[in-house]
Amino acid sequence: MDNSIRNVVVIGSGCAGHTAALYTARAKLNPLVIEGHEPGGQLSLTTLVENFPGFPDGIQGPELIENMRKQAARFGAEYHLGHVAKADLSTRPFTLSLGKDTIRTRTLIIASGASARWLGLPNEQALIGHGVSSCATCDGFFFSGQEIAVIGGGDSAMEEATFLTRFASKVTLIHRRAEFRASKIMLERAQKNEKIHFLTNTVVDDVLDVTKKEVTALRLRNVKSGEQWDFPTSAMFLGIGHIPNAKMFGGQLDMDQDGYLKTTNNVFTRVPGVYACGDVQDRRYRQAITAAGTGCMAALEAEKFLEEEGH
Ligand code: NAP
Repeated sequence: MDNSIRNVVVIGSGCAGHTAALYTARAKLNPLVIEGHEPGGQLSLTTLVENFPGFPDGIQGPELIENMRKQAARFGAEYHLGHVAKADLSTRPFTLSLGKDTIRTRTLIIASGASARWLGLPNEQALIGHGVSSCATCDGFFFSGQEIAVIGGGDSAMEEATFLTRFASKVTLIHRRAEFRASKIMLERAQKNEKIHFLTNTVVDDVLDVTKKEVTALRLRNVKSGEQWDFPTSAMFLGIGHIPNAKMFGGQLDMDQDGYLKTTNNVFTRVPGVYACGDVQDRRYRQAITAAGTGCMAALEAEKFLEEEGH
């Protein structure tokens, strides 16, 4: 990589990152996109996307994200596979450290996303997109009329379970304790829903059946009695939280108690010239289309900032 000072660096290559890259590339700012440890972000982990406007028959998540990448690259966006380990935002140009590479940039767009928390089961990763999912909005529809399980005891799990009753014949919410972290109102809404059944003090030891390439059952264990059994289900939705990828900005940018970047006017951080977009700053909507929207906003702000600074 050359040593020159970049106009724009985008951290992250999900929907927000590619959109920011597309806009800044078309503004002839020659953006550099650092692809991160999960290139393509969460869309690359899903299957059919039916709620991104413009695709009447839906589009596969990985194809959608690859199209976005190609579109940005066509206008000159450069891509670099790497992971930002450290950032110095105290002086301009900002400095990013990626292993042995150092990058300096006049503006920075943080689109590093939030990674779904997984359970870490032996067969979990192999069944993502085949019945294991972290996104009810994305994948719930595929299990219409079937029985599905949701894992977690917080608001996300309650929200997912309630949402999934639109499609599923039965939703079983499986939680490792008997007490719930969820807010009273969300918990009560789920408890009142007759399609939702609760299994508490229960953990998932594994998900089956990797040889069939689909979810057929969960191997469950009651933490009090130690009893283990196979629980037939067509899908396992995880609602055990997300982890925003913003640790490298600790102490430099404002974050909420869970590590999401705080922004004002959608994309402004407290450092002029540094913008945040997509799931790293959005714990509420978390949709591909909203991530693309804030990616666009961040790009337009970076462009304006550079113009005002005379670049
Ligand atoms: P959360 O509140 O941190 O809850 C995570 C849940 O997953 C907890 O019940 C936790 O169990 C469980 N969990 C975590 N790791 C686990 C593991 N390895 N195995 C089994 N269970 C595990 O996360 P969240 O529900 O995503 O909510 C995050 C924040 O967003 C909260 O502030 C929430 O209020 C907010 N939120 C709001 C809404 C809304 O208002 N519409 C919707 C979603 C989220 P334990 O309880 O035993 O720790």
